[in-house]
Amino acid sequence: MKISIIGAGNVGGLTAMRLAQEGLQDIFLIDVAKNVAQAKAFDMEDAQSILKHNYRIRAGEDISLIRDSDIIVVTAGFARSPGMTREDLLNKNARILRDICLSIKKLAAGSIVIVVTNPLDLMTLFTLKSTGFDPAKILGMGPTLDASRFANLISRELNISVNDITACVIGSHGEGMIPLPGFTTVKGVALDEVMDDVKIGTLIQKTLNRGKEIVSLLASGSAYFAPSAAIAEIVRVIAKDEKRVLGVSAYLNGEYAIKDVCAGVPCRLGRDGIEKIIELDLNSREKESLYAAAAKLKEQYKNLMTE
Ligand code: NAD
Repeated sequence: MKISIIGAGNVGGLTAMRLAQEGLQDIFLIDVAKNVAQAKAFDMEDAQSILKHNYRIRAGEDISLIRDSDIIVVTAGFARSPGMTREDLLNKNARILRDICLSIKKLAAGSIVIVVTNPLDLMTLFTLKSTGFDPAKILGMGPTLDASRFANLISRELNISVNDITACVIGSHGEGMIPLPGFTTVKGVALDEVMDDVKIGTLIQKTLNRGKEIVSLLASGSAYFAPSAAIAEIVRVIAKDEKRVLGVSAYLNGEYAIKDVCAGVPCRLGRDGIEKIIELDLNSREKESLYAAAAKLKEQYKNLMTE
């Protein structure tokens, strides 16, 4: 199984390391910045003797390293700085992705592509349209991270291990993020049965702001420890055909009565990528929120450069 990561920055570099530690091979790391991917690969390989784990990471600047990849993770592009929304990155990152998509189409037409670059849902749709791939083969990493953040905050509030919490977040990876308390469970019991609405509201707000909070504390760059963990989880589930249900940004073509938008929904993932989009039985308020998020994404996608 050949796994390529395009973009060896904070997220891409740590993703390569996590995949190597999971025992996934063969890993390729590519970055336009001269020598950066190679330097990081050397550094990661130097840890093998201490970790007692054999792995090899091939790296370089040449995009043709992605040739015949089975899975491609795209983390190339600009990250947010304090005061920026993910949407502010739209055209800057679309320009980067446009060339990358051409290469993917030419060199790895059979690959499954996991988009990470922000603004996530818009870049996922852009990748889908630019490659012309089957929608099952293009997915965006966002909701898995958002759910993990929600689970962490719930765990701290209830003083219960995250292992007993299954969090569910849909919508966009941005302002239109929708954490779902009714589909989030604490040892099988819905969150809205074990926590009052005010506390849930506070945790939802904290989840929505978590990325921004990290960006402003870091002052330069954005989160990468949890994002790389979420990417590695998705890659492993696909590579090992685990058939697990994870939240990803998926192309909706009538599911949830939404068309021609990529947005976060639970999906069964396996060897073929998105094998099934799971349609949750949302209440009317949740449906309204999802429609509003999808409408906003459609509006924002129109602002994407077309030249
Ligand atoms: P970073 O600045 O550390 O790394 C980005 C890397 O991309 C740089 O090394 C840069 O040289 C490289 N790059 C730029 N153009 C390239 C090209 N054409 N080909 C190959 N490499 C190229 O940023 P980061 O923190 O790693 O974040 C990367 C992206 O991921 C950002 O857009 C960020 O907003 C996004 N992100 C998304 C999520 C999510 O949940 N979806 C989470 C974290 C970060």
